[in-house]
Amino acid sequence: MIASPATATTHYRICPLCEACCGLEVQVEGSRVTRIKGAEADVFSHGYICPKGYALKDLHEDPDRLRQPLVRRNGTLQPATWDEAFAEIERRLVPLVDQHGKDALALSLGNPNVHKMGLLLYTARLIRAVGSKNIFSASTLDQMPKQLSSGLMFGNWLSVPVPDIERCDYLLVLGANPMASNGSLWTVPDFRGKAKALRARGGKLVVIDPRRTETAEAADAHHFIRPGADVFLLAAMVHTLFEEQLVHPGRLDDWLNGSDEVGAAVARFSPAAVAERCGIAAETIRGLARELAGAERGCVYGRIGTCTQTFGTLSSWLIDVLNVLTGNLDSKGGAMFPKAAAFAANTMGKPGVGRGVATGRHSSRVSGAPEVFGELPATLMAEEILTPGPGQVKALITVASNPVLSCPGGERLDQAIAGLDFMVSVDIYLNETTRHADVILPGMSPLEDSHYDVAFPALSYRNHARFSPAVLAPSAGSMPEWQILLKLVAIAQGLGAKADVLALDDQLLAADVARLAGEHAPAVLAALAGRQGPERQLDLALRSGPYGDQFGGKPEGLNLDKVAAAPGGVDLGALQPRIPEVLRTPSGKIELAPAILVADLARAGAALKEPAPAFSLIGRRDVRSNNSWMHNLPVLAKGPERCTLLMHPGDAAALGLSAGQLATLTLQPGRQVQAPVVLSEAMMRGVISLPHGWGHDMPGTHLTVAAERPGVNLNAVLDETLRDPLSGNAVLSGVAVVVSA
Ligand code: SF4
Repeated sequence: MIASPATATTHYRICPLCEACCGLEVQVEGSRVTRIKGAEADVFSHGYICPKGYALKDLHEDPDRLRQPLVRRNGTLQPATWDEAFAEIERRLVPLVDQHGKDALALSLGNPNVHKMGLLLYTARLIRAVGSKNIFSASTLDQMPKQLSSGLMFGNWLSVPVPDIERCDYLLVLGANPMASNGSLWTVPDFRGKAKALRARGGKLVVIDPRRTETAEAADAHHFIRPGADVFLLAAMVHTLFEEQLVHPGRLDDWLNGSDEVGAAVARFSPAAVAERCGIAAETIRGLARELAGAERGCVYGRIGTCTQTFGTLSSWLIDVLNVLTGNLDSKGGAMFPKAAAFAANTMGKPGVGRGVATGRHSSRVSGAPEVFGELPATLMAEEILTPGPGQVKALITVASNPVLSCPGGERLDQAIAGLDFMVSVDIYLNETTRHADVILPGMSPLEDSHYDVAFPALSYRNHARFSPAVLAPSAGSMPEWQILLKLVAIAQGLGAKADVLALDDQLLAADVARLAGEHAPAVLAALAGRQGPERQLDLALRSGPYGDQFGGKPEGLNLDKVAAAPGGVDLGALQPRIPEVLRTPSGKIELAPAILVADLARAGAALKEPAPAFSLIGRRDVRSNNSWMHNLPVLAKGPERCTLLMHPGDAAALGLSAGQLATLTLQPGRQVQAPVVLSEAMMRGVISLPHGWGHDMPGTHLTVAAERPGVNLNAVLDETLRDPLSGNAVLSGVAVVVSA
């Protein structure tokens, strides 16, 4: 229901501010938000809300949020009509692509894309329409290793197993802080409550992290580990399983390829061989392997810290190797595959077998880095813009993306973007990246949009389907993101800026339905009549999905009307075993020893011999922050300064540093950043922590609140040439750094 100006009404809205996807109750009077709280009736989050959830009000009301297009005229960005903005894009972009080719136009996609149904569904259409090899996204900044290892093992990029936390009795967490994040590549609102329940029923929570995080504080045991050493710890745990005959995959035995190869591949990584490099005693490593093997319902979960390192894909793989070998994969209380009601590729096509995944279908022009899941590493964007020659990137479309703050080498990228021939940004802020745009196209407030989580049900601790309609009527002159993106599709396809986007939407949907339904397409299209845009795509996905009504074939099944009518959504039950049905590998089995991963262990073996740096750097997650995109919201910006350098008091004393003093970090010659020191016994000796996504003090931005306490841009000085060669993911953790007063 849309609120009328005269009444105070309460509305259900799925929170779009992080991966936990909590259901909220938003009370409005007219167009004013008067209260936000967790929705008790939500079948998935049961009333949970974190401090960020309240910030939806600030986001909606933020005077800095752009509400009409901006077009650069005579060097400055000036308000324009939608028609003027799209005409300018057609005038400048089309000849540029005609002259230099499709690859001359790059796309940069940011993390908020995945939190708006219209953005995610129609960005996919834009990528296809643009046809460029130069697609960059936040995925290669923090998660591509897990997608690649999952794809190689299970056959689909997004078949990522997640902890079945409500039935687990032993949870081993590496490089993740779900107490602050409520999960990442794991949608788990109120992790705190669930971890507490796990311990209350006699379970054990163990955390491995270079910092005693909020999650570690709540755990039964915490072990410091040297940043970047996860691969060695995990390989040594696998080694122990083989050495002590603790390998028991259980029913998965029938669906496994490569167990023996894995045993042979980790032979060199004995606990004794890796202990010093990890900073964990060999007997402790053996003990961790035995505990996991002995747990009735155990699970290993690793996240950001295990992905953002040079061995990110190996670490991500070994986590699931441990889950498989201990019989905890696809088993109740272990690491399980959610079954999403809509959009999940591992619910489509023939069950149990598929084409698997491949990388390197094309390579980046300058460094020759392989494409992974259709993308090139985000850290290569600057060189693709700056290096002359055929295929050079001359124009850029950013969609909810701020790589100047979120991508290593941000300062160089900032200069590169400033020199582009043309740039369009679909964004609600004039930020550190969009300040270079020639045209900015702002979407709507989340409260003005309906929502269904397209991606996160495939990563959720429990199966569910939830839809939230728009809370508020769209403000005058606004345009939904899906229509903005369709206009760009039309321009890219040569249909022109004046193309009828609703007719184009009909055409594109008809093509989708023809592929899906064949001869039944006319009947399916007729059944979808009455809706447009993302909601129509959602109805199609729900009805044809694993719980769907199959357009009348299963009348008791789901469709959008049913999901929308259910207060707090539809609970689809606890996670269920899905092997072999979930697999999409050509063999129809779990590939435990993919050749490129086994081969990459040689690189890890060589690195094991290298000494650990005197100081290494890690990031950190704060419950009131999420990358770079919430620093302008007053309710989150208040409180203690967050862009601070955490270090152990002993390390600080040895360097002559004290609390509050500015420390200088030198990451490579000529690249330095300074940040105030906060002393913390929670830090491992020789490790410092500085969060990324800060540095809101650049000219030409309009982020009033963020600029008051801008912090420093760590990514300006991180080395963009460091990446995991398999996934192309940036290396952000375990980077060697020189610290001085
Ligand atoms: S945990 Fe995430 S989804 Fe839940 S209220 Fe906080 S920001 Fe929103």
